[in-house]
Amino acid sequence: MKICRFNDDRLGLVEGDEIIDVSPALDVVPAVRWPLPHGDLLIAHLAELIRRIEAVKAGAPRHRIAEVRLKSPVANPSKIIAAPVNYQKHIDESRADPGIHFGSDVKAIDHYGVFLKSSTSLVGPGDGVALPKVLGDRRMDHEVEVACIIGREAYRVSRAEALDYVAGYTIGLDMSVRGTEDRSWRKSFDSAAVLGPWLVTPDEVGDPADLDFSIEVNGTVRQASNTKYLIFDIPRLIEYASATYRLYPGDVILTGTPEGVGPVAPGDVMVARVRNIGAMTVAVGSN
Ligand code: MN
Repeated sequence: MKICRFNDDRLGLVEGDEIIDVSPALDVVPAVRWPLPHGDLLIAHLAELIRRIEAVKAGAPRHRIAEVRLKSPVANPSKIIAAPVNYQKHIDESRADPGIHFGSDVKAIDHYGVFLKSSTSLVGPGDGVALPKVLGDRRMDHEVEVACIIGREAYRVSRAEALDYVAGYTIGLDMSVRGTEDRSWRKSFDSAAVLGPWLVTPDEVGDPADLDFSIEVNGTVRQASNTKYLIFDIPRLIEYASATYRLYPGDVILTGTPEGVGPVAPGDVMVARVRNIGAMTVAVGSN
């Protein structure tokens, strides 16, 4: 199943090039009082939600995908976890380009571990991205990544059971300011995390270790790879992250970007694609 959030927080079921407005199914998401539990309540109730979507979809209003504004399919992740330098060819290009490494000695993910992006950096494709005005003409790069969404609480999960904890997959952009500062600053500005166009459940994604994915900017392909080239694959990332962080429903793991990263500027249009998920179009704006 492909599930999206669109317009004014409507819930959509994606079928072909249409979105069926199944918002009445949101009644399975409980209203909560303070303090809120960690995690995203919709993802925490996904199994129930899917059954409810099936029950309400007949006769529900339909929209063309191109006519709606797509938001991040996950509204409230407690954490956005990201994998740095997790493709060998991206390590090679980072070592070769002073505009990426800024004088640091680029090592692989087993040296750095994973890092966190601010949960408030999250937007959907319809929101677009923009470099904060104060950063002037600093270099802002696209990083296309396959994103994994955690479906239930996970702590100290082994790689053998890791995929049982996955609610689905989506396309991620780990927008990055290049420079000397910590990743948690360079990659956490408002709109630095884009997820979309929808969440796809694992049964429709197939083998997450063999997904072609790409990004084009203004019609030119900049990055194209396959998740089979990941250094830490998705089960290993879940094992690694859950060894120290307790993962909650809706937590995001951005799995890393391949070679071909490069700057974007206001007016550019990015189209990111992952096989078996779809495509999302994201505009670069200005602040
Ligand atoms: Mn990245």
